[in-house]
Amino acid sequence: MPHYDIVIIGTGSGNSILDQRFADRKVAIVEKGVFGGTCLNVGCIPTKMFVHPADLAATPASAARLGVDETLDGVRWRDIRDRIFGRIDAIAAGGREYRIEHDDNANVTVYEGQGRFTGHKELTVELAGGTETITADRFVLAAGGRAVAPDVPGLAETDFHTSDTIMRIDELPRRLVILGSGFIAAEFAHVFSAFGVDVTMIARSGAMLRAEDEDVSRRYTALASQRIDLRLNRTTTLARNTGTGVELDLEGPGGAETVEGDLLLVATGRRSNADLLDVEATGVAVTRSGHVEVDEYQRTAVDGIYALGDISSPAELKHVANHEARVVQHNLLHDLGVEDSPVTVDHRFVPHAVFGSPQIASVGLTERDAAAQGVAYVTATQDYGGIAYGWAMEDESHFAKLLADPSTGRLIGAHIIGPQAPTLIQPLIQAMSFEIDARSMARGQYWIHPAMPELIENALLNLPLD
Ligand SMILES: Cc1cc2nc3c(=O)[nH]c(=O)nc-3n(C[C@H](O)[C@H](O)[C@H](O)COP(=O)(O)OP(=O)(O)OC[C@H]3O[C@@H](n4cnc5c(N)ncnc54)[C@H](O)[C@@H]3O)c2cc1C
Repeated sequence: MPHYDIVIIGTGSGNSILDQRFADRKVAIVEKGVFGGTCLNVGCIPTKMFVHPADLAATPASAARLGVDETLDGVRWRDIRDRIFGRIDAIAAGGREYRIEHDDNANVTVYEGQGRFTGHKELTVELAGGTETITADRFVLAAGGRAVAPDVPGLAETDFHTSDTIMRIDELPRRLVILGSGFIAAEFAHVFSAFGVDVTMIARSGAMLRAEDEDVSRRYTALASQRIDLRLNRTTTLARNTGTGVELDLEGPGGAETVEGDLLLVATGRRSNADLLDVEATGVAVTRSGHVEVDEYQRTAVDGIYALGDISSPAELKHVANHEARVVQHNLLHDLGVEDSPVTVDHRFVPHAVFGSPQIASVGLTERDAAAQGVAYVTATQDYGGIAYGWAMEDESHFAKLLADPSTGRLIGAHIIGPQAPTLIQPLIQAMSFEIDARSMARGQYWIHPAMPELIENALLNLPLD
């Protein structure tokens, strides 16, 4: 049975751990799918590569009221798709080749198959030609998560898509039904509706993006419902293929109804792959949400077994997985005597963004969180329409909302809905991370006039602080 110093399971963020500092160690990498993981192949990167052309396709709708009449002549879906995956597939293939063939990786063995723990620090891998069982002193669990579908009668028998498959379809459908109303659903609704597809979205609750601050979620819901057929407060009772597409039976405030589409996208959530990896067989504990349990050093309770990214983090964000991979890398090097002391993760201010229409970015507490936690706060908003660049855009819909600690003046939450939100929020993340108070941030630097960041300057000045 081959024995390794380190086995890494998953080539998403896990693949970034190895460098020449591990060159004298015997290492194995186990990957059941495509090299590079979710973000590169079916997640952040391709979705945003679709969002950008979708933003371009959507400009005629917003340009007319500024006096610019544009028409959209067409969307060459296959060209867009092939440009995106022409780049991505080559990067994934290059990453695989590097690990398997490059001299830098002479100490690395790649197992291409699904791994499953079958004993203490013992992993059995399903390879094309049979199984192989390997053992190691140290494991890194970086096996990510997967899309899950709800338990709707008939759904499993329909030809539904998830985010893993919808980006590779051959033709744009005329009508797309999206089950779900979280960030993945919102981003695909934007892409497909901007490309001219009639989108119907089924939401179980009364608003889209319910994890966002309530003001943001409410505004997004109102704006999205102008572009897509948004059915809120619906329970899906039955799904069936129609021969040309799919139908869903719904129960809602108005009673029973049926929606029909040429394609169905199920975007109702994801779960950790800890169960499929059978981590409990090696003694690793999982939380109630199904994530691998780790401490602040990304260690599981089993000596020498670390976890990172979506398999252990409910945040399910690439920048979190990358940060955790750096922590695991450092701590492995510490175990191997290369680094002096171990490091801990910093999950204080984890931001996220939604690349929908409009865009959203958020960090820290929502007003709902602050109230639930009994945290004292003051809040202020600033409309895009109230700053000079917002006048240029004739903006009427978007805003930034800040929450601050009234005693220290430090920010505890920031939420932006509107153009460039994921870029605009970065100085606020910086202020929170480096503990700069709102007043110093607003008045201790110049803000370029008349640029969009004046939105942030004004939101900061609006906070009712002494
Ligand atoms: C549609 C979509 C859009 C997203 N957009 C964003 C975004 O804009 N910004 C952002 O921050 N995040 C985004 N995410 C989330 C982001 O992709 C993930 O947080 C990130 O990829 C997690 O990285 P990871 O290394 O933990 O896991 P992954 O990248 O999922 O890597 C896990 C790897 O392990 C392999 N594997 C799994 N089980 C086994 C096994 N048993 N044996 C062997 N190999 C196994 C998998 O094949 C995979 O290659 C998005 C996700 C999706 C689905």
